[in-house]
Amino acid sequence: MSEYKNLWVYIEVLNGSAKSVGLELLGPGRRMTDAVGEKLAAVVIGSGVDEAVKSAAAYGADQIIVAEGADYADYSSEAYEYAMAQLTHKYKPSTILIGATSQGRDMGPRLSCGLKTGLTADCTGLEIDTVTGNVQWTRPAFGGNLMATIECPNTRPQIGTVRPGVFKRGMPDAARTAEIIREDIPVPAGTVRTTLVEKIAEAAEAAVKLEEADIIVSGGRGLGKPENFALVKDLADVLGGVVGASRAAVDSGWISHAHQVGQTGKTVGPKLYIACGISGAIQHLAGMSGSDVIIAINRDPDAPIFDVADYGIVGDVKEVLPALTEAIKKY
Ligand code: FAD
Repeated sequence: MSEYKNLWVYIEVLNGSAKSVGLELLGPGRRMTDAVGEKLAAVVIGSGVDEAVKSAAAYGADQIIVAEGADYADYSSEAYEYAMAQLTHKYKPSTILIGATSQGRDMGPRLSCGLKTGLTADCTGLEIDTVTGNVQWTRPAFGGNLMATIECPNTRPQIGTVRPGVFKRGMPDAARTAEIIREDIPVPAGTVRTTLVEKIAEAAEAAVKLEEADIIVSGGRGLGKPENFALVKDLADVLGGVVGASRAAVDSGWISHAHQVGQTGKTVGPKLYIACGISGAIQHLAGMSGSDVIIAINRDPDAPIFDVADYGIVGDVKEVLPALTEAIKKY
């Protein structure tokens, strides 16, 4: 156990740039490494990753470990896990944080299995015990009705995936520099058993960038019928925001799952979140309570959403939404 030191953040790369979640995780990574006096390292795997390496330095990594080469031009579970495992055997990090994206959810468990260590999936909170160095991983459990805090006291490295949007990105400092370690890790023949046949660009609908939006206007069952989502969209449009939804609205077929906010949807952290006709069930709150400012519109003054809202409007969404949209258009 004592051989393992330092915290790693895996920086996922998309089209040469770092995905937001990796940069977000450098924030809690910094806080935890400062608390135990260790180094914060970013791990970047891919091909043509200079931009991502610069971002990792700007967002606070002390050290950036880069595995770059043709073998990593496209993501494959086997090749990326192989690189991560080789690096882990060599450098022995105490903790590895990975974004809970499709890629992270694929690679993380494979890596932890290979290393015979644990993995705490889909975390929403991170602390560290400064005496033992154990990370305290918080994640929703029992359908989101309680938050479990999990420790892995007897294994290293401790690995976890963390939901995108839970932590806010810090302020980048383009002048910051970091120690860059380049590792040449050719993937042995036969390791990759899959072949990339075709890349299909994300459909526009699935590409709803809720996690990166500054303003989200969300609709719930209180809208009454699918056509009323137009009122939500109108307000989102005048504010330059995007449309979110509760699960009840999604399950009713009013809007696609790509818009769902909450425990089984997306975790968001916008500057402004407007909840329209949403009751505020715990599973919805799990995805949006980190928003800077929350406005709730609900005709029930006792709706639980008002407990987390900074501003509340008690009224009918069908009247309040058009009035708000018109008022904002005037400015
Ligand atoms: P409701 O709870 O029915 O609330 C509708 C609200 O609209 C009420 O407060 C009502 O007062 C108000 N209203 C009605 N008419 C009007 C009107 N004309 N004007 C203004 N207000 C009005 N939910 C999620 O959202 N996201 C998730 O990811 C998610 N994951 C889940 C995972 C699990 C395992 C489980 C068990 C549940 C999950 N849920 C999730 C469902 C969650 O428990 C709630 O059922 C859901 O959030 C309710 O959606 P809602 O607030 O739109 O509907």
